[in-house]
Amino acid sequence: MTFDYDLFVIGGGSGGVRAARIASSQYGAKVALAEEYRMGGTCVIRGCVPKKLMVFASSFPGEVADAQAYGWDAQIGALDWQAFHTRLRAELTRLEGAYRGNLERAGVTIHDSRATVTGPHEVRLADGREVTARHILIATGGRPVVPEKWRDAGCMTSNEVFEMPALPKSILIVGGGYIASEFACILNGLGVETTQFYRGAQILRGFDEEARGHIAGEMVANGVDLRLGTDILEMERRDGQTWVKPTTGAAATYDAVMFATGRRPNSDDLGLEALGLKLGPNGAIPVDRYSQTAIPSIFAVGDVTDRANLTPVAIREGHAFADTVFGGKPTFFDHGLIPTAIFTQPEFGTIGLSEEAARDQGPVDVYCAAFRPMRTAFIGRDKRTMMKLIVCRQTDKVLGCHIVADHAGEMIQLAAVAIAMGASKADFDRTLAVHPTMAEELVTMRTATRSYGE
Ligand code: NDP
Repeated sequence: MTFDYDLFVIGGGSGGVRAARIASSQYGAKVALAEEYRMGGTCVIRGCVPKKLMVFASSFPGEVADAQAYGWDAQIGALDWQAFHTRLRAELTRLEGAYRGNLERAGVTIHDSRATVTGPHEVRLADGREVTARHILIATGGRPVVPEKWRDAGCMTSNEVFEMPALPKSILIVGGGYIASEFACILNGLGVETTQFYRGAQILRGFDEEARGHIAGEMVANGVDLRLGTDILEMERRDGQTWVKPTTGAAATYDAVMFATGRRPNSDDLGLEALGLKLGPNGAIPVDRYSQTAIPSIFAVGDVTDRANLTPVAIREGHAFADTVFGGKPTFFDHGLIPTAIFTQPEFGTIGLSEEAARDQGPVDVYCAAFRPMRTAFIGRDKRTMMKLIVCRQTDKVLGCHIVADHAGEMIQLAAVAIAMGASKADFDRTLAVHPTMAEELVTMRTATRSYGE
C-alpha cells in the first residue's frame, strides 16, 4: 500500500514539532504536520515562554527595592503593560516563525488546519481533504479546565492571562498547582493585589512537604494573600467586578478571577474513539512506553497522553518516537527521574523523591539547610532559602534534591546531571564548594538533619 506520507503529525507543539523534524531531516521520512492554531503549542504561545517573560517583568520592583537598600538612588514607576505586552506578542510571533521555519527547512509539509483521524492510516483536514500516512502521531497537547460549576462565569484561565488588555487592580487565583502558584507570584510582583484560594492544606501537592511550606511562607511574606483550605462557594458579576463568597472567611470583590485548576488532554473529537481506541481517565490517550497506542500505526506524545506534562518531556517523547519508528532504534523516554522547576518567587527546583516518598521506601537520611542568603541578609531581609538532599542510607545514593531559592531552576539543572548519573552523598561531599554561593550548601551539609528507618 502506498501512502501520501510516511508520517502525519497532528499538533505543532514541542512534541509534534520535534518528532516531525527528526523523522524528516534525520531519517528522510516524508512528513506532514497539521496545526489548527499557532505553531509552537502551549509552551511557546501560552505557557512556558510568555510565563517566564512575565516572571522576569514581575521581578523588577523587588530588585529596585533591594538596589535602594544597597544604597542606589533607584526608583521604579508604574509598569507600562501595553509596552510589555506589545514586545511579548512580537517575541511570540518571532518564535512561532522560528518553529515554522525549522519545520520547513526540515522538509515538513505544513497544513494550517485542524485534522482528525478517520482510520488507522487516514487523516481528514478541516477543508475535507483526506490524506493517508503510514504512521500518525497525535501531539495535540492539553488545555486548562474550569470546574463545571464555574464554566460560564466568565473567568480567566492561563490562556487568557497572556491576553489581558490591562492589568487588573486585584485578582483571585483558584488552585494550588504549578500554574496557580506561579501566577500568584507573577501578578503579585506586577503590583496586582493577589489572593489565591487553594482547597487543600498546602499548595503544590505531591512535592516535598518542607519545600511546599517554605515556598508558601515566602509567597505570603511577599504579599500574596494565600488562603488554604478555601474554595469558592458563590460567585457573581457585580458592576464589572466579580463578587466571591468563599467557603471560609468574608466575601470580597475582585477585578478578575483566574482558574488554574488543572489541564485536560486535547483528545476530544479527534476520531479516535470511533476507531475503537478507548481513552483513559481525563481523556488521555493510552500509550505504551514507545508512545504507541492500541492501534499500531497511531502514536501519541506529550500532554495528550497525560504522563508528565512538561515541555522537555514531550520533546524527548517525540524524539524517541522518531528514533524508534524511523531510525530503527527502539528508544523510550524514562519518566523515572524528571528534574523540574516551578517559577514561583522564590523558585523551586526539584528532582527525585520527596522526603515523604523516600522514607516510605526504606531508611533515608535527610540533609536540609534553610538560611538567609547573603545577598538579601546584608540588607536586613528575612528572605530564606532552602537546600535539601534525601540520601539512601543503604547505598548512599542521593534520591532527591529540593532547592527553594532565587535561580533554583538553574541550580537544579546542574544537580540533576549528577543525580541522574547516580551520584552518592560522598560524591557531593567530595565536590569542592564554590564560595560564596547559595548552592555551596549542597556540598557542605555534613550532618543529617533527620533520619528514618533502621
Ligand atoms: P495541577 O494539576 O498542577 O494543579 C491543579 C490545581 O487545581 C491543584 O491544586 C488542584 O487541587 C486544584 N483543583 C483541581 N480541581 C479543582 C476544583 N474543582 N476546585 C478547586 N481546585 C481544584 O495543574 P496546573 O493547571 O497548575 O498545571 C498543569 C500542569 O502543567 C502541571 O502539572 C505541569 O505538569 C505543567 N506545568 C509546568 C510548569 C513548569 O514546568 N514550571 C508550569 C505550568 C504548568 P488538588 O491539589 O487538591 O488536586
